[in-house]
Amino acid sequence: MTVVAIVGGGITGLALAYRLRSRGKDVVLLEGETRLGGNIQTRRRDGLLTEAGPNSFLDKEPATRELAAAVGVEDRIRAADPAAKARYLYTRGRLRAVPASPPAFLKSDILPLGARLRVVAELFTGRVSGEVDESLGAFGRRHLGTTATATLLDAVQTGIYAGDMEALSVGATFPQLTKLEREHRSLILGAIRTQGAQRKALPAGGPAKLRGALSTFDGGLQTLVDGLATMLGPAVHTGAKVEGLQPGHGGWRVSVREHGRQAELMASRVVLATPAYVTAGLLRPLDEPLSALVEGIAYAPIAVVHLAYAPGSTPAPDGFGFLVPGLEKRRLLGAIHASTVFPFRAEGGHVLYTCMVGGARRPDLVKLDEEALVTLAREELKELAGVTASPVFAEAIRWPRGIPQYNVGHLERVASIDAALARLPGLHLAGNAYKGVGINDCIRNAFALGDMLA
Ligand SMILES: Cc1cc2nc3c(=O)[nH]c(=O)nc-3n(C[C@H](O)[C@H](O)[C@H](O)COP(=O)(O)OP(=O)(O)OC[C@H]3O[C@@H](n4cnc5c(N)ncnc54)[C@H](O)[C@@H]3O)c2cc1C
Repeated sequence: MTVVAIVGGGITGLALAYRLRSRGKDVVLLEGETRLGGNIQTRRRDGLLTEAGPNSFLDKEPATRELAAAVGVEDRIRAADPAAKARYLYTRGRLRAVPASPPAFLKSDILPLGARLRVVAELFTGRVSGEVDESLGAFGRRHLGTTATATLLDAVQTGIYAGDMEALSVGATFPQLTKLEREHRSLILGAIRTQGAQRKALPAGGPAKLRGALSTFDGGLQTLVDGLATMLGPAVHTGAKVEGLQPGHGGWRVSVREHGRQAELMASRVVLATPAYVTAGLLRPLDEPLSALVEGIAYAPIAVVHLAYAPGSTPAPDGFGFLVPGLEKRRLLGAIHASTVFPFRAEGGHVLYTCMVGGARRPDLVKLDEEALVTLAREELKELAGVTASPVFAEAIRWPRGIPQYNVGHLERVASIDAALARLPGLHLAGNAYKGVGINDCIRNAFALGDMLA
């Protein structure tokens, strides 16, 4: 009975299964759905390749590269097209390019003059006293001022967390910012010094290599999932929903409903790589306080709306896409110019937009039906980006519990969860709810856990 049971076949569970296997461990992966990948869901139809969940990752994480190489799909990684370099923000009535350098920022109209000068004054900001867990909004205002925070910082967090910056914890969502503050007092000063030091120690490939290219695979993100499924073979059970856990015989008895039949499996260790709300349910009969800690991790709902336009019916948009800060009070969080970023995802010159709706800002919108979401996205694209053509393809995907929210107190909560797990030896938690929401974070953390368990 030395098998490790991994519950959940999203990218976390799959990466962990790979890592443990490569360290000589016997694993079984139990996925409740009939498909693998969790949030990662690539769809193909009529020459379009759409992503229901995540769109891309930054190709700078060694663990992700290693995983792709091990699965044999490293040569299928595709970097974003150079045309996707520019990024836009919808602010003060129109789309404005995000300046790419400090001098360009000072000259740009992304913020009113007073707000730009306030950002420069950040050089003289005082350090925060003590180790308080502050909201992203409060941290931002202290450093950058009200307008820059509500415009720039809110847009950045929206693109990652679709969250509420008054609720998100700065330390949990942007630890690089609190680190800069701790070490350099001013974020600007810290960024200048860090960049200077990095430039001296540049890897081959220059600054672009350091930042990492925005990337996917030629067959979408599912390419990695499918490769892992093939590699793991019979260790993976789909349609296998875990319904309960019990300690026993020096390990764990796992109750599984597999294709409608009840089964039991003995494992020396169990890793729950499930969303926090599922994990909390499985933990409840075992340890109520631990379950409550996990259940307290909130999720923001989000809807993804794909709109594809016939070639020539609307201009191909420039840049990666645009984000809309909350102060604009729009119904769209932003849109990715998917066919500009990855032209191979829309054959024959179709123009593909991927719009995001809802988030912590407007959770009510995710309750709309598919047709209403498509109408909403079309109306917003028309007003924000001037797209008046009729789409030849439209679909909306709702994620009622889409993105975990690392709200104020999250770091302490995760520390308490880690401490409480000591009461359940052989049981471990993994996944995007705890220490990073990006695909790269999930893979890096899965590798770290795999190394610890091997
Ligand atoms: C709309 C959207 C856009 C995103 N965009 C990006 C992006 O562009 N880049 C990026 O890096 N990240 C992005 N993310 C985040 C990223 O997709 C996720 O953090 C990551 O895929 C989570 O992987 P995971 O394995 O931890 O969890 P999940 O993908 O949620 O996997 C959990 C798995 O557990 C299974 N499960 C649940 N209950 C049980 C049970 N009882 N028994 C067995 N199995 C069970 C589920 O079916 C699921 O397969 C996005 C997320 C969303 C929702």
